[in-house]
Amino acid sequence: MQLSALAPAKINLFLDVGPVQADGYHTVCSVMQTVSLYDTITVEKTPSGITLQCSDISLPCDEKNLAYRAALNFFRESGIENAGVSITLNKKIPVASGLAGGSTDAGAVLLLLHRLFDSPISMDALLQIGGNLGADVPFCMTGGTALCRGRGEVITPLTPLKPIHMVIARGGAGVSTPAAYHMLDAAYGKKLPAKPEDWDTQHIQSWNDMHTAMFNIFESVVLPIHKEASACKKILEEAGARLAMMSGSGPAVFGIFESEHTAELAVTKLQATGATAFLCKTCTGPHIFYNKK
Ligand code: ATP
Repeated sequence: MQLSALAPAKINLFLDVGPVQADGYHTVCSVMQTVSLYDTITVEKTPSGITLQCSDISLPCDEKNLAYRAALNFFRESGIENAGVSITLNKKIPVASGLAGGSTDAGAVLLLLHRLFDSPISMDALLQIGGNLGADVPFCMTGGTALCRGRGEVITPLTPLKPIHMVIARGGAGVSTPAAYHMLDAAYGKKLPAKPEDWDTQHIQSWNDMHTAMFNIFESVVLPIHKEASACKKILEEAGARLAMMSGSGPAVFGIFESEHTAELAVTKLQATGATAFLCKTCTGPHIFYNKK
């Protein structure tokens, strides 16, 4: 039996970062949202071992791939022996773009294996395995709209935003997340994270409210040195986005549109410049389905 999942990308509607802690990690204060730009992952039981095939040949297919590592940790933590899995990963989410592609793949593999092996551990334990793989993994497993604190793993669900038309654009080279954090440290030092108390989604009634609430501290250090990301943001704004902002540590940027038609035109304009652009909407978490061979 094959089981598949649509693993959504995430964007940050708000992202502020605190100083580096004794454990080497930064605290974050973030509002994350899953969007309908998906990697597709299929798993199938095998007698032993883990194998991974990936549509993106630039990505590793061993323990360096978060999807592989998720399977390894799942078997280890759930005590399952004498079983294996083959994983097929069809990448659509641009890599190293601030869209949590690796984290959502890892989260989806955990949910898939949990289903495939008849829920051998609790959901809390599964989320814990996710948190150990990466701070964004637990959010990717639950999805929707959420306030994420700590390293990103302390999740408070928020009232889901109404479906919004979005365009995600990505041009130029990828941004390494650790390098982006170093740039923040150099620029801000010990500044504490702002608390987005006004990020009660129930109180976001207008574009103005949304405009006031949206923020990403990484824009201030990444956009000045990433001309393709700034160009994509400008094109989104000129094409009629009500709001446009970089996601995570970039360089992907997203635009929020009132009409699907305007969003489609923005995609065409972005693609004409050589950028990668996707039309999508806000959505809920991973979607799991049986895949009849
Ligand atoms: P972050 O979670 O650090 O913000 P990101 O969303 O910016 O990451 P990813 O697409 O997750 O970026 O890629 C970050 C790095 O993770 C890449 O350099 C890539 O080699 C590695 N990686 C490992 N597994 C995966 C995967 N399944 N998909 C994408 N990248 C992966």
